Amino acid sequence: MVDVEGLASEMLESVEMGCPVHPWTMAARAGYVVRVGPARYPAMTLGPTIVVPDHRDERRAFAVLHELAHATLRNAGLPDPETTVDLVASAALLPRAAFLRDVERTGGNLHALKRLHPHASYEAIARRLVAVCGGAVTVHDVGPRGHRSRTAGAPRRLGALARSLVLEAHHGGEVVGPDEARAYPIKDGAWSRVVLVTR
Ligand SMILES: [Zn+2]
Repeated sequence: MVDVEGLASEMLESVEMGCPVHPWTMAARAGYVVRVGPARYPAMTLGPTIVVPDHRDERRAFAVLHELAHATLRNAGLPDPETTVDLVASAALLPRAAFLRDVERTGGNLHALKRLHPHASYEAIARRLVAVCGGAVTVHDVGPRGHRSRTAGAPRRLGALARSLVLEAHHGGEVVGPDEARAYPIKDGAWSRVVLVTR
């Protein structure tokens, strides 16, 4: 197994990046130019240029880190499958030690963590929270094209309590639920998103 956290710290140290991590600055310091390409193409690195799809800010920032993580793994002579690359990118975006301090300081409140890590999406923060502190996360989107949900470490079907918390957060727009299962409503353009963190 690759030392994900170690590679992520190397990545940050090599460009002298502290918190909050700013992927675009990291790319510039590593000698890359970042361009925004069409939304339908995946991110790619072409020589000294990183091209990221035209998505919202946090997704573009993550795509930049993803490409930097590819380069870090390859430079270390390691294989760079997509899942490993995403783990390294996620660990670099929210560095473990600093992130754990912030979790302690904020009680793991997603909105407070987002203010401390503005270049990370709510979903990225929630996934990292679960990766370093345990638990599970489900993201529920209700948008112009209907409902979709994505899960990490959670059962495919939500229990009755979780379902009612998600609905309540969607409709009321307030954070609801006990420590063990908390639902965070997030407004994001035309989408109404609820991130449910269970621990
Ligand atoms: Zn990739």
